[in-house]
Amino acid sequence: MQKWWVAGYNARGDQDNRRDLSIVNILLTNDDGIYAPGLWAAVEALEGIGKVVVVAPDREQSGVGGSVTLNSPVRAREIVPSVVGTQTWAVEGTPADSVILALESLVKDADLVIAGINGGANLGEDILISGTVGAALQGYTRGLTAIAISLASLRPVGYEAGARLVQVLAQQAREGALPRPALLNVNLPPVPVGQLQGVDITRLARRTYADTVRKGDDGKNGFYWITRTRPAWEMVEGTDVWSLRHRRVSITPLQTDLTAHDAVPGLAHLCGRLSTLVMPSAHLAPS
Ligand code: MN
Repeated sequence: MQKWWVAGYNARGDQDNRRDLSIVNILLTNDDGIYAPGLWAAVEALEGIGKVVVVAPDREQSGVGGSVTLNSPVRAREIVPSVVGTQTWAVEGTPADSVILALESLVKDADLVIAGINGGANLGEDILISGTVGAALQGYTRGLTAIAISLASLRPVGYEAGARLVQVLAQQAREGALPRPALLNVNLPPVPVGQLQGVDITRLARRTYADTVRKGDDGKNGFYWITRTRPAWEMVEGTDVWSLRHRRVSITPLQTDLTAHDAVPGLAHLCGRLSTLVMPSAHLAPS
């Protein structure tokens, strides 16, 4: 067992030796809404591994990324769970709102945050708009182990393999085998467990073209529809997309530093010119 678990650290990383060390507290959320089948497949898979609390948006919120509701109150109500005995809160807000409410007020002592099982892949640069990843991010930035898990199919293919993976990952977290803090973006190919070819630690792939916009007219004001066309991915070994294409589970460790470190030295020459242009009198000052 890893130090954080044996010593009994709470959600804020403070040591708390009074905790019952045999229980792992798991916060489960998603961006497909509280009644999504992938969420409840995960709840069932976690039975016996830890104490599960579900806090999730009351409706589908796919594609909202990490957005947080700041200009209106966020309501949460306890509802009857789809799996008996699971404390369950429906949140009138985003996936990130749900995790913030859970960790700051409703649950507090979570050890592990799991977002999913999402219906549809979250790969490459698309993770920047993923509500599933946006939810997990809130656990990660609070020092927890956070897992975003997605099934790469929008058609109902069953969540058995995903549920098995959730179970195994939670067990690994409980045994201290996963880093903390961590943000793991997990994707499964849409195949039965028996057809999975392996598990890879990957990096994010790059897309080669962006979304398209369709124009429509409903007799009132014209409107635009941003469509998610089938992306053309750079198919390079070592990426999340490559693993999925080869029927393998992809686990990409993520971090929040989006700085393009390689670009910093190459842009340094701009500083002097920009300073002069922004502050024209600056060069007159005695040096
Ligand atoms: Mn979704």
